[in-house]
Amino acid sequence: MQKVAISACLLGEKCRYDASDNVNSSLLDLLQGHTLIPFCPEAYAFGTPRPTMDLIRTPSGDKALSNETGEDLSAPVVDYANIFFDKHPDIELFIGKDRSPSCGVCSAKLYNTNKTLLSHTEAGLMAKVALTRNIECTDAEKYGEEI
Ligand code: SF4
Repeated sequence: MQKVAISACLLGEKCRYDASDNVNSSLLDLLQGHTLIPFCPEAYAFGTPRPTMDLIRTPSGDKALSNETGEDLSAPVVDYANIFFDKHPDIELFIGKDRSPSCGVCSAKLYNTNKTLLSHTEAGLMAKVALTRNIECTDAEKYGEEI
């Protein structure tokens, strides 16, 4: 049995930008018996529903910018991630929703400031914090392939 941090939307929480979920029942079947600890940095920081954001390569680093206002939304997501992992220092596995700019592990899209796609294999902001802390991380869509 592992202690698993998992994107809350994968568990059926309606915390996506449009107040929908990403429930994944086959993933949940695979995770039966593990202790699941849900997280959603964007709902915590910005509420639901909310404008979308994208990862953008800027002169001062890769940032999550609001698609509505262009505001840099990175800090609240990173702050949430640090608080979450400080509170749960014994997390053994991080499962992030693939392609999310916050939660994707190796599937988030990165654009330049003209919105040209630079990469689709990036870590989202919360996943980056998990990786920095040497927590094993996987995208949800890869989990079944790795067990
Ligand atoms: S992908 Fe992450 S930030 Fe987006 S709704 Fe799911 S848990 Fe929240």
